[in-house]
Amino acid sequence: MSGKHWPPGTQCVTKHDHTKPKPQELAFHKGDVVTIIATVEGKGWYRARHNETGQEGLMAASALRQRGPIRADPKLSLMPWFHGKISGVEAVQELQPPEDGLFLVRESVRHPGDYVLCVSFGREVIHYRVVHEENTLSIDSHQHFSNLIDMIEYYMKEQGAICTKLVKPKPKSGMKSAEEELAKAGWLLNLQHLTLGDRIGQGEFGDVLQGEYMGQKVAVKNIKCDVTAQAFLTETAAMTKVRHKNLVCLLGVILHNGLYIVMEFMSKGNLVNFLRTRGRALVSVEQLLLFALDVAQGMDYLESKRLVHRDLAARNILISEENVAKVSDFGLARVNPKGADATLLPVKWTAPEALKHNKFSSKSDVWSYGILLWETFSFGRTPYPKLSLKEVTELLEQGYRMEPPEGCPHTVYALMKSCWALEPGKRPSFKKLTEKLQKELKHLKDV
Ligand code: ADP
Ligand code: MG
Repeated sequence: MSGKHWPPGTQCVTKHDHTKPKPQELAFHKGDVVTIIATVEGKGWYRARHNETGQEGLMAASALRQRGPIRADPKLSLMPWFHGKISGVEAVQELQPPEDGLFLVRESVRHPGDYVLCVSFGREVIHYRVVHEENTLSIDSHQHFSNLIDMIEYYMKEQGAICTKLVKPKPKSGMKSAEEELAKAGWLLNLQHLTLGDRIGQGEFGDVLQGEYMGQKVAVKNIKCDVTAQAFLTETAAMTKVRHKNLVCLLGVILHNGLYIVMEFMSKGNLVNFLRTRGRALVSVEQLLLFALDVAQGMDYLESKRLVHRDLAARNILISEENVAKVSDFGLARVNPKGADATLLPVKWTAPEALKHNKFSSKSDVWSYGILLWETFSFGRTPYPKLSLKEVTELLEQGYRMEPPEGCPHTVYALMKSCWALEPGKRPSFKKLTEKLQKELKHLKDV
């Protein structure tokens, strides 16, 4: 394939072995993942870094393919070795022919809610009861784990009190190992290259930590609960399909402590805090328009990929060191119990047809974008100040819309109002919003 233009930071997977490199070239095996550092002028070569060894060198473009998207597949499992409620006899059958370290986990038939770890060893199958103790799991009352994923991870590294180190999971029939699929596609990162630092945020499902991955600053979302991690995995698939300057970039995931989602680090935090801590004195109208334009462009790209965000709000916009605004939490919104339970929707941001009839679309994202514009030009105020959720719903039905924030250009207010058309079809597209904001910025510079 000709005409590849991979920018620095692009993750690529190697297509074949290259074990006898010439000087300056990188050695690699088929399926290794590398990071593009720079293009070598006019040669079809790249300078790249090997993600596993950290070594840098030259690579032919023809030896590389960009990593592909992960398909959202319900058979993709973080716990392919979990067989659910099967009897001990069935477990023994599953673990034939015998092979030391072949294992599975089942739910105890006799003690519902407890688990059993079944391990093949010396032609026999040994069954270890996993006991719940004060919100943790344990086999020997000595090592405790917060979930099954962590327990299996531990016994694959340490023999501990069981007969052998776990070697090979026996997948439940029809299940695919998420770990294997992620590794094959090039999205699995290496825990050894990750250093974790301070906590920078608190998400609904776990902490967000600052960190470093192979010299790059990153943010890491840790989802500890195995069930939530599984749900996130399916939705993280959406993040593997997109790449745009105004979308927070997913670097990859690590299966440890539940799930680590590793993203580019956005040093200036979320848009609400950015605006609240600086205010009118420090942030110009031009800067506000630039943020609004960034978001509209990111959303236009999502719309073109037929992805609906569902939770577009200033709290989900992050700001980079260079003051670029990027949309985050896309594709993850559906994991949110909010999606399933109408009483937990972010009411003040959600379009009426989405609230009432669960009709989410790019046009309902546009409604939310209008609210985001209002938040931006009011420097991070909460929308519909002083109104309760019930009052907001009632007033909107009567045709009420928010007043313009103080000092908001009337053209920008007109944009907000157009986003709040009751009929979704009458709202502008993100492309149209992008054009209008560009015009407004030009106008601002001309006067
Ligand atoms: P959730 O949507 O699960 O509640 P968020 O993804 O919104 O969690 O993250 C919570 C907070 O953590 C954000 O408001 C932000 O301050 C911080 N944060 C999240 N991701 C990043 C990132 N990539 N870079 C810097 N800070 C981040
Ligand atoms: Mg969020």
